[in-house]
Amino acid sequence: MDAALKLGVEVTAAAERPSTLEAKNPSGLLTLDFFDPEMAARQAQDFAKDHPVEAVIPVDEDTAVAAASVAQALRLEHNPVSSARIAKNKYLMRECLKNNDLKVPRYWHFTLDDDIEERARRVSYPCVVKPVFLSTSRGVMRADDPSEFVAAIRRLEAILVKKDVARRGGAASREVLVEEFIPGREVALEGLIADGRLRPLAIFDKPDPLDGPFFEETIYVTPSRLPSGIQEDILSTVSAATRAMGLVRGPVHAELRINEQGVWVIEVAARAIGGLCSRALRFGEDTSLEELIIRHAIGWSVDQLERESRAAAVMMIPIPRAGALEAVRGIEEARRVADIEDVIITAHITQEILPPPEGGSYLGFIFSRAETPDRAEAAVREAHRRLEFVIE
Ligand code: ADP
Ligand code: CA
Ligand code: CA
Repeated sequence: MDAALKLGVEVTAAAERPSTLEAKNPSGLLTLDFFDPEMAARQAQDFAKDHPVEAVIPVDEDTAVAAASVAQALRLEHNPVSSARIAKNKYLMRECLKNNDLKVPRYWHFTLDDDIEERARRVSYPCVVKPVFLSTSRGVMRADDPSEFVAAIRRLEAILVKKDVARRGGAASREVLVEEFIPGREVALEGLIADGRLRPLAIFDKPDPLDGPFFEETIYVTPSRLPSGIQEDILSTVSAATRAMGLVRGPVHAELRINEQGVWVIEVAARAIGGLCSRALRFGEDTSLEELIIRHAIGWSVDQLERESRAAAVMMIPIPRAGALEAVRGIEEARRVADIEDVIITAHITQEILPPPEGGSYLGFIFSRAETPDRAEAAVREAHRRLEFVIE
């Protein structure tokens, strides 16, 4: 909304539940059934009769399929609905990538109603157990042997039967994807598909090891310190993956692992980086990622794709344990650390917080900008050390 305001672009915000203000602002607010993309498309068509729409921009994976469906009904240039579906479903993505000769881990797909003990004997170890449709590492667990595997499946089931989760997932909430564990370093690539090709916007190193048993995100640092040859492999791998998936336009957020065998796609999402992380990125003079995405969506030029020259880091502040957040101390001390730009606590006091695999949120975000990626990383670590979270 800030980016649109800056660009002078009018926005209609669609939400799943009607806003109490909708009647007062009929062109600015719209209710769409995100879980029924065809219905959402009809609702949007009705709306567009009185309020012409030039572009549809999803803000997360759940809305990506509905957005594609709406765009198709309004005959706007967009990713195909089928591609948005593949990007949202981890099993469909694995099938698609494998069928197009991308390097993917071995994987097994089954349902919670299958014989889990028998499955435990058939998968290889170590492996990663995951739901097919959630995000922010919810329900993603490593298992090193059959007993850990069975425990992980039961723990996943307990997450998937929760009412809101089951409703979001539909039939997919009974599905399980198991993958061979790929050791290695992890990176994320932020890109924009424009004029038929993937433009890299940033490659982020994830310097904290992500070896499990759970996979909470922490620090992202850009530019990547990997050798340029590997960075080129990362870009060509994500380009090949997006082509395989049929993604033709708009933002892409990909996660990859790198080891002696090469570059492995963990996943490719047809959306921008999540949470407040995009604040770590700045392009051209002073253009935000959201401005780039809006400009591109409405057909304006996007020639300023070059990220600023300074290094940047963002830390998604992990939740150390479950409980009620009672107090946060040291925010000012953290902000005073050299190279720190901001510390934003997004969890609120009294909120019940939950680490992964059950939880899927962070305590907040720490941002730094510095001359080098090492210094940007050191700054967010130092700021984090100064924060104290009281959890009852
Ligand atoms: P989400 O959509 O919830 O982010 P992912 O499939 O991206 O789920 O998994 C979350 C994290 O778990 C990844 O970023 C990675 O660190 C780890 N992970 C997932 N699959 C594998 C795998 N096959 N091998 C190693 N690590 C994995
Ligand atoms: Ca994801
Ligand atoms: Ca992910």
